[in-house]
Amino acid sequence: MKLALFDDNRVALVEGDSLYDVSAAVPGWGQPWPPVFMQRLIGEWPAARLALLAARAAATPIPRSAVRLRSPMPYTSNIIAAPANYRKHVGELGNRGVTAAGNSARNIGFFLKATSSLVGPDDGIMLPRGSARRFDHETELAVIIGKRGHHIPRAAALDHVFGYSCLIDLTMRLEPGAPAEERPTRKSFDSFTPLGPWIVTADEIPDPQVLSNRLWVNGTLKQSTNTAEMTVGVAELIELISSVMTLQPGDVIASGTPEGVGPVAPGDSITIELEKVGAMTLQVREADAVAPRPW
Ligand code: MN
Repeated sequence: MKLALFDDNRVALVEGDSLYDVSAAVPGWGQPWPPVFMQRLIGEWPAARLALLAARAAATPIPRSAVRLRSPMPYTSNIIAAPANYRKHVGELGNRGVTAAGNSARNIGFFLKATSSLVGPDDGIMLPRGSARRFDHETELAVIIGKRGHHIPRAAALDHVFGYSCLIDLTMRLEPGAPAEERPTRKSFDSFTPLGPWIVTADEIPDPQVLSNRLWVNGTLKQSTNTAEMTVGVAELIELISSVMTLQPGDVIASGTPEGVGPVAPGDSITIELEKVGAMTLQVREADAVAPRPW
């Protein structure tokens, strides 16, 4: 099942190029801020699934081209991210990155991104206006947690996954010779975590370690690998993260990026595609105004 959010955060099941609006069947949908209906939907699965299927049967198709796709998680309690995490990426950034060769989440752990950085495919990416800094794309498989858990052993970890999505971990690179800004600062600008185009439920992806993971800038392939090349796989990541913090339904894990990260600029279009999940293209633009503290 593919779950998308569109326009004013309406909920749809996606089949081919059509969306079926099932918002009315989603518990808590339409409540004011914060929009936690996806957490409730995920937390109340599988009963909620049956309600969605009933709503789907009564819905009429809406073409994909007629809607604005939003982040399939409009709000989440945590975005937990693995540094690097594909063998060949580690070390490629030299002094513009902080993950030294030989290190991975297994020995240095994870970091958090601001949850407010989530956007959907049709929202696009906004870079700080007038910045001379380098902003890079990172293509990542996103894991959406389905079941609350703490100290989850890796053998049981995939039972805690609700589904998967495509995630771009936009990152302001370190400036050589300048003080190293904290990772959450460099990765938390609004729109720096595009998620989508939808969530594919885990029953459609029994093994998350066999998926091609690719990203193009303006049609040129920049990153191309397979999740088989991950250093720390999804199950081990869940074990590691839940050994620190309780994972909640709707938490988003960014599982790390392969080699080939590179800069993006206003006017670029970025396409990310995860096998069996889907593909989305985002336009890059400059923010409307220079921040009072420019970057
Ligand atoms: Mn990343």
